[in-house]
Amino acid sequence: MKTLFKALKYGFKLSPLFTFAVLIEDITSPAIPFVSFYFGGKILDMLLNGSSYEETMKVAILLISLVTLLTLLSRISIIYQNAESETLNEKLKTLIADKALSLSYGKLESKDLKAILTKAEEGANGSGSFASLINVSLSSVFKGVMTVIYSVILFRQAFISIDKTSSDPWFNFLNNPYSFLVIIGLIVFMVIISVFLMSIINKVMYTFYLENTNINRRYSYFYTIMEDYRYAKDIRIYRLKDLFGSILDGQGAIMKERYGKLGRIEGWINALVTAANSLILLCSYLYVGAKAYYGIISVGAIISLVGAISTFADSLGNTMGGIAQTLLQLKYISNYFAYIEAEDQDDKGEKVSADSKGIIEFKHVYFKYPNTDTYALEDVSFRIDPKKKLGIVGRNGAGKSTIIKLIARFYLPEKGEIDYDGKNIDTFDFASYQKVLGILFQDFSLFGFKLKENVAASANDIDEEKVKKCLDLTGYDYNNIKKLPHGLDNYLYNYIEDGTELSGGEAQKIAIARALYKDSPIILLDEPTSALDPLSELTVYQSIEKLVNDRTSVFISHRMSSTKFCDHIIVLDKGHIIQEGDHQSLMKDEKGIYATMFNEQAKYYV
Ligand code: ADP
Repeated sequence: MKTLFKALKYGFKLSPLFTFAVLIEDITSPAIPFVSFYFGGKILDMLLNGSSYEETMKVAILLISLVTLLTLLSRISIIYQNAESETLNEKLKTLIADKALSLSYGKLESKDLKAILTKAEEGANGSGSFASLINVSLSSVFKGVMTVIYSVILFRQAFISIDKTSSDPWFNFLNNPYSFLVIIGLIVFMVIISVFLMSIINKVMYTFYLENTNINRRYSYFYTIMEDYRYAKDIRIYRLKDLFGSILDGQGAIMKERYGKLGRIEGWINALVTAANSLILLCSYLYVGAKAYYGIISVGAIISLVGAISTFADSLGNTMGGIAQTLLQLKYISNYFAYIEAEDQDDKGEKVSADSKGIIEFKHVYFKYPNTDTYALEDVSFRIDPKKKLGIVGRNGAGKSTIIKLIARFYLPEKGEIDYDGKNIDTFDFASYQKVLGILFQDFSLFGFKLKENVAASANDIDEEKVKKCLDLTGYDYNNIKKLPHGLDNYLYNYIEDGTELSGGEAQKIAIARALYKDSPIILLDEPTSALDPLSELTVYQSIEKLVNDRTSVFISHRMSSTKFCDHIIVLDKGHIIQEGDHQSLMKDEKGIYATMFNEQAKYYV
């Protein structure tokens, strides 16, 4: 019930016109057949009773005008519904996308929320769609209620009895005003059976779509990759076409079997429901026909009653079906709300002070990634003083990037505390805390925006001179007219016309420039030169060293020589700090992992 009200509230808020159009259609369209049955029967009786031509015509004109008016109103409202239902669904999709941008990283990465997201997307599209909840399912319930009201008006004729005594038990039964209740009872009974059968279909369908969610999530990943040119090189050179093909064939076979099974269940149940409905109609036609035969009702009343009964039975079935469908769709939509209303990144804490010093301290930090049971970091403690440089070295998988992600507050430590200027980072307002961080992630992303927008991470108030300065520091040549005919205004990547493609090194230079542009008191660089040639690497390090002198900085590098200049270096192994100190002191421990790694590497770089 709560979800229902929420759905109506959202529907009305996002598109009042849509909701209003549905309401108008729900009132007008069920009235059309009843107007025809009522006046049709009346006209027939008037013709049979020899009423005057003028009077019959008056009723006929009234009939035509009413039907035309109602049809027009319902058609116009359908036009608005169709136009608005797309807008409504688009707005819902935008809400999902906005949510994805505002959720915390850890939440967005979590498998549970990913599953809810897929279901939420299904709630916003397709058969479980929000618009169809209102204009199909709920609407059929409302139309059903209207039909019952209209039918009751016409059913009055069925309760008529005449003043005549007879020994014919059939006549006595048919002339009893309450005999009609038997027919109504039959209809209701059959409808209940149909609804029971329909609810079985609905249950099967919900489970079916839930299972599809998991299958589809996997396949949509493969489909996206196959269409993205950035994956195309590996796909071609390793001839992954067959591997992809077999996965898609596998999906095709699974889906064919699944849909076939569902189709068979649906087909059988629908056949049963149709047979049951035909049986009721047969009984009611016999009842009405016999009533007219015995002269209890007029010939015209046959038309209005038969019409009213069949419409009543149909719409009662639709209403019940609509209720079952509504309940099913509300289940989908509740996933949508679960996602939309998932708690956002906490923006309620204290603001980071403008003259912050930039001290970072890890105090006995333990951390496991969600859904894993080994510690990525275990009892890690260190402190970086203002404007000092910390180097983090260690083998692959030692936990270096994890430190960056924890400082960024993408995840929370399981135990221990991370402080900024002496306060737990969790207590800060997230947005204001993130302003103090400039980060180059190892797996950074640039986007199909303009070059200057990528560097400034904004579309407005871009300081172009500063963009150039930052790019100069990394040695990225933005003056190359051939590659960048529009200079800083050039788009990146081929997704947009005239966009420029980037080499790995060029992309890395732009990403470093973006971290530098941010002017944050803290700068964290995770393998900043991994894609650069030795000459560019030297340029970048020389610039960065100068540039970060007035900031607290963290350098992660597999190249030991590039962290030599750091004030303090920690050596990580399997999530533990196993050595720390400055370069000189670490080198003294000749058997230590630092000196060993340094000497090993020096062999290749000398
Ligand atoms: P490094 O940067 O030192 O190469 P990471 O900090 O990236 O190492 O990873 C530390 C450990 O955590 C590795 O064993 C890695 O597999 C695991 N890990 C990293 N990211 C995730 C993640 N998102 N989910 C689960 N495990 C992860």
